[in-house]
Amino acid sequence: MLQICRKKQAQLSRQYQQRTLAHAIIIQGIEGAGQGALAKWLIELLICQNPLSAINDPKNETISEACGQCKACLLRKTDNYPDHLLLNTENKTLGVDDIRRGNAFLEKTAHLGKVKTILIPQAQVMTIAAANALLKTLEEPSANSYIVLITDDLDSLLPTIVSRCAVYAIRPMIGEALLTQLNVSNYGDIQLSSSSTLAKKENDTAYINLSHLPELTDKIIYQEFQTFNQYFLDYLVNGQSEDKLLSQIVDNKHSLRWLEKIICNLIREYYLVNATGKALLVAEQQISVQALNQIYQAIINSNKLIKSHIQANRQFVGEQLLMTINEIVRSSI
Ligand SMILES: [Zn+2]
Repeated sequence: MLQICRKKQAQLSRQYQQRTLAHAIIIQGIEGAGQGALAKWLIELLICQNPLSAINDPKNETISEACGQCKACLLRKTDNYPDHLLLNTENKTLGVDDIRRGNAFLEKTAHLGKVKTILIPQAQVMTIAAANALLKTLEEPSANSYIVLITDDLDSLLPTIVSRCAVYAIRPMIGEALLTQLNVSNYGDIQLSSSSTLAKKENDTAYINLSHLPELTDKIIYQEFQTFNQYFLDYLVNGQSEDKLLSQIVDNKHSLRWLEKIICNLIREYYLVNATGKALLVAEQQISVQALNQIYQAIINSNKLIKSHIQANRQFVGEQLLMTINEIVRSSI
């Protein structure tokens, strides 16, 4: 498991052991944050009949995990476990029929006894009708059932759904934490380290399943992302394109997530390229990695501000953010 998820794993393990785990859980994270791996770990733990606990040394936190040996674990490994349902979609949206399939699944008695679990890996593609059908289930949860939703964009879910779920937001690793998790053989060829058995198990899933991000699947949004990226770099490096950037931040619902992603990539690039001794794009432009980290923090704070206020003024938050970024860049040169 990626290091960044350790904290969430410890938190979820604690709630699991104390039996205070919510019956509806949203795991939210941007591209590459490891939300899929975290959800997989949690589902496996919920399914297991004989879970193990291990102390996660640095902070003395106990992390539970599936045993991998019991009848439920063995069935799950071969995809024959009857009490788990994956609500996935090949289409662009997850419809009301899919959710009804989930509701029917929950109404039946569990085959192996313990719990029933449903995983919805792309919760943000639910239609309004589907979301309303799910809402009914969330309002009257059946006993011993767990619904885990994964999304990259909490804003695209109905607030009534979000308010009925426990939300776990994870962020991708940056900086030193990322480096310790990566074995860099050469630039562009990155392998995750497998220092623990858990890491080995999760490597395959940690960085895949990104296809639901609109800029990766939609040509127009991809172009918008590229343009936005250019405006931002222009602003960051040359102090230009401020007006265009601000209007994007105000009008484009993806903009803050994109800012987070761009800065994350710059920081990753810094460490990865640095580790292989190649020229540093960021360093050439005289923006330090410390400044990038500060900017990352400012973006996260703005994002939180906008998400925590229903009537948040994006214009105001955007202006403040650009001012902060400007100050960080100027004081770091
Ligand atoms: Zn087991």
